[in-house]
Amino acid sequence: MILNNLLSLRADIQKTCASCGRNPSSVKVVLVTKTLEVDVIREAYGHAMTVFGENKVQELLRKIDRMPSDCEWHLIGHLQSNKVKYVYDKVAMIHSLDSFRLAQEIDKFARRLNRKIKCLMQVNVANEDTKFGVSTEDVFPLVSKILDLKGIDLAGFMAIAPLTSDEGIIRSCFRQLRVIRDTCLVHYPHFSFSELSMGMSNDYKVAIEEGATLLRIGSLIFGERVYT
Ligand SMILES: *Cc1c(COP(=O)(O)O)cnc(C)c1O
Repeated sequence: MILNNLLSLRADIQKTCASCGRNPSSVKVVLVTKTLEVDVIREAYGHAMTVFGENKVQELLRKIDRMPSDCEWHLIGHLQSNKVKYVYDKVAMIHSLDSFRLAQEIDKFARRLNRKIKCLMQVNVANEDTKFGVSTEDVFPLVSKILDLKGIDLAGFMAIAPLTSDEGIIRSCFRQLRVIRDTCLVHYPHFSFSELSMGMSNDYKVAIEEGATLLRIGSLIFGERVYT
């Protein structure tokens, strides 16, 4: 079942890219493996999937050690500053940078590694009370402060669309994120902000049409999650 789902996802990504004139190789899938056991993740790995996303630090750490070392792990959930020390040298990207305090902490550990840590700024585009992320009016001042931190590679932005079946609302959220990115490109032409992490199982096609480069997909591949 996982293989079939992966194949049909790949076909849909290609079809959507063709319809909006994008190169399918510019859209990468981060398989969201939260709540899944390692044997299930290994099955996906067996089908050449190596980029995985987790939203909790403890769960991420438990799985990293039990999966092959050529896997790439992305932290996609809220990160508390005091937990940076557990993940900074293990993750390929942090999608949930949402405060200057967190940025400073990541920067501190990146300097220890003597390299930059790739981060995306999570933006609460719909300004929902229930969501983490930087509010739209705080984005630009925060970007400018973070670009001064030598340990952070601010590679782009991440957003979660509201839970709604209204495609117009979803599209406008994704579009807003892209506009934020494009505005940053104008202000900071020496940076590329190339990544837009947006689109999940239910809205990834709209996300591709609006410029997503990283899709975070779980249930479409693995089935509905069971929370225990
Ligand atoms: C769970 C989760 C996803 C994946 O959601 P699906 O609807 O299962 O594809 C994507 N992004 C984040 C931040 C998540 O927590």
